[in-house]
Amino acid sequence: MQKTFNFHLWPKPFKYFEYAKLFVITLCAIVAFIVAGIFAVLYTRTSNLMYERVREQAATYADLIMHTKMWNYDYGGVYVEKRRGVASNAYLRQLGVNPDVKVEGGRTFTIRNHAIMIEEISQRSVEKDGVRFHIVSLKPIDPGNAPDQLERTALSQFAQGESEWHSLGKGDNPVFRYLKPLFVEPSCLECHATKGYKVGDVIGAISITLPLSTYIRETRTNKILIIAAAALTICLLVTLIYVLTWRLVIKLDEVQKRLKKLASTDELTGLRNRRHIMKRLEEEFERAGRLNEPLCLIMLDIDHFKRINDTYGHPFGDLVLKRVARRLQEATRSYDITGRIGGEEFLVISPGTTAEEALHLAERLRTVVSQEPMGDGGKEVTITISAGFALSSPADSGSETLLKRADVALYRAKQGGRNRVEAG
Ligand code: GH3
Ligand code: MG
Ligand code: MG
Repeated sequence: MQKTFNFHLWPKPFKYFEYAKLFVITLCAIVAFIVAGIFAVLYTRTSNLMYERVREQAATYADLIMHTKMWNYDYGGVYVEKRRGVASNAYLRQLGVNPDVKVEGGRTFTIRNHAIMIEEISQRSVEKDGVRFHIVSLKPIDPGNAPDQLERTALSQFAQGESEWHSLGKGDNPVFRYLKPLFVEPSCLECHATKGYKVGDVIGAISITLPLSTYIRETRTNKILIIAAAALTICLLVTLIYVLTWRLVIKLDEVQKRLKKLASTDELTGLRNRRHIMKRLEEEFERAGRLNEPLCLIMLDIDHFKRINDTYGHPFGDLVLKRVARRLQEATRSYDITGRIGGEEFLVISPGTTAEEALHLAERLRTVVSQEPMGDGGKEVTITISAGFALSSPADSGSETLLKRADVALYRAKQGGRNRVEAG
């Protein structure tokens, strides 16, 4: 035989299902929202950290270049041997300075001032790490040191007092641009006086261009990990909330059902208690009237029960009550409602039962109680029961009238010698 497995995401076992569903969905949404928020902060922080790291590295480059530049400057430039491929500084010649010196043995040395030295180191750095740095000036002696668009923006901001400028480039090969201002010192005027500078003016800037591909690769891995961790955490939490909350809700529903049953059950006999059966009587009376169907009510009372208690003791009396209740329950149909309304008084509501059937039912109940003795092993007694029944009629003003008629009929049964049935 083929088995089918039905999984229900939202099982529907209880009354407050819609509320519980809304509660679980809201709870899951709030938790997912909070977790997503936490991870979004982490995500943004990762980007900011990368930016900060690149900025710090650029600043370190700038400081190092500045030290190197000053080292060169303090010596008034350094001489390098003029081997093949080493050209003299053309701009010094323009300023009327001979950049070359010949030494004994015929070797020629040429001076490398700070600007050229920085340019040459930069070329090596570009080849090796892709990091480019150079000195830019608004009024350069070397036209190669003229600023580009971004550098011009930075220089104008330095003129207004900014001490640092950076920007993150976009595109296929994104770069980080970093500039730090250079100020005119008295010594600078030796070469730059003709350009109209004064001490303290912004003479230019150290411009650094860092390729970002490595950083972006690293950050991308981190970001992917953060997104995966967020998705996993949300899934786990939502599943956990779903499972735990539904378990709790189902448990609470079971407890509620049990409490409801307890509240409507007679503790001793397990039959419906007085409060419940009276409520059911009202409902059935209203229903029978509405559908124009007959409704039968049978009231039963154990005969001389006081004697049982007096003779055999109260616990035995309790046992008898339980046995009578069981026999009554077994003799009624599933849609009849049987309850205990007092000490040794019982009520049976039998919907859709005609007068003839009602008499039959009441007689059956009387007989099942008395036909065999009851008790436990040692003590056994034969119990009789009297019954009075009544059928609902349009003349009844309410369920109390029907109850009253059944009660009167029961009284007549008692008066008539007990162990009998009377109609009301
Ligand atoms: P009658 O035939 O006229 O009905 O006589 P009766 O003795 O059955 O009637 P009566 O109302 O005088 O006595 C009912 C007795 O039922 C009195 C009381 O002690 C007993 N009783 C009431 N509730 C309980 C109970 O829960 N357990 C036991 N063992 N006895 C109970
Ligand atoms: Mg009684
Ligand atoms: Mg009695």
